[in-house]
Amino acid sequence: MRLLLACCLGLTVTCFACAEDVVGQPIAPWEPGTLDIHQISTGRGNAGLYILPDGTTLLVDTGEQPVKNPKHTPARPDDSRLAGEWVARYIRHALRHDEQPALDYVLLTHFHQDHLGELSPGMPASPHGYILTGLTRVGEDLKIAKLLDRGWPDYANVASTNARFMTNYLAFVKWQTGQNGLQVERFVPGRNDQVVLCREPKKYPQFEFRNVGSNGEIWTGQGTNTERRMPSLDTIPRKQWPDENVFSSSFLMSYGKFKFFNGGDQPGIRKNSPAWYDIETPVAKAVGPVDAAILDHHGYVDSMNEFFVATLRARVWTLSVWDAHHPTTGVWQRLQSEQLYPGPREVFATDVHPDARLAIPGLERMASDHGHIVLRVAPGGGSYRVVIVDDTSESHRVTKTFGPYPSR
Ligand SMILES: [Zn+2]
Repeated sequence: MRLLLACCLGLTVTCFACAEDVVGQPIAPWEPGTLDIHQISTGRGNAGLYILPDGTTLLVDTGEQPVKNPKHTPARPDDSRLAGEWVARYIRHALRHDEQPALDYVLLTHFHQDHLGELSPGMPASPHGYILTGLTRVGEDLKIAKLLDRGWPDYANVASTNARFMTNYLAFVKWQTGQNGLQVERFVPGRNDQVVLCREPKKYPQFEFRNVGSNGEIWTGQGTNTERRMPSLDTIPRKQWPDENVFSSSFLMSYGKFKFFNGGDQPGIRKNSPAWYDIETPVAKAVGPVDAAILDHHGYVDSMNEFFVATLRARVWTLSVWDAHHPTTGVWQRLQSEQLYPGPREVFATDVHPDARLAIPGLERMASDHGHIVLRVAPGGGSYRVVIVDDTSESHRVTKTFGPYPSR
């Protein structure tokens, strides 16, 4: 049952607590004023759908890893379709409130196959000259208004421009910009005007999307100011360019008191690398505490350093995962450590591999280790819930609910 209540500002808002998600029932539709953050479980890469308070839509990454690998969990819901097709179908269902579902924004955090789409023999081709995998598959099905990536327009800072998955992506961008009206921009750290509400912005002034880091340049937390963390690529021999993950684009989304961070695959633990490989530390200084965040680099061994975990001190951590090596024991221990920060916290994962369950002590304390993860932030951002949705079929059935949690 949904009721209309008058809030303290005298505006009429939908009563969030009444739009209940019930275990065993399909997830309730998105409602105006709500911020929905979906981490879609495909078993083959990251895919995040964000429905902003006025209905503006943002897709962050869509990966595809088509070759079967025993270190990976099974494809979700199954392998009868490629990941990009499942994601497009998921998006259409999540946007069923909209007569003409489309993507106002796509953000590609970095150029890796688990975020963009790998190629393999036999994959379907678009009539426009590229293979349909991951993001290009979604773009074939849903109109995209604006694409943000870290390389536009010349992609000169991408080491793998000649790799097949990259030439395929560039063919997609070329056709979409030339023939289908796609706008593309380079993601610029520090800015808060590259992703904006495009339907009813005046209705939700408490929403902000802040670009944090990209290409080794990081927001300072003040205005739109940034600092370069990485030396100019001109000074580094191409063969010694850092791993693609170091270039990841990251963002901070705020809605009233609610804050959410996504760092792509940014690393924070150097191993035998220069100090500037630690992107997490300066990012954490700019971002500060948040309510919820996605784990950097799927919780891999080079991510989630102590300072980052202690500074963000999220109440809710989400983890996009399908690989036996993600997360790692060290990351799990840091997430659990009350020495790094006090108080309760919950971890939700899209699909933890059975080997990781066996190898990591205490992983059974994870609040949920499989399923689509949906954060539903109440109108105004004062509280949020976590809804877990069945990923083994397209039932969209709720399997668990958590919260509401008050935003800090
Ligand atoms: Zn990744």
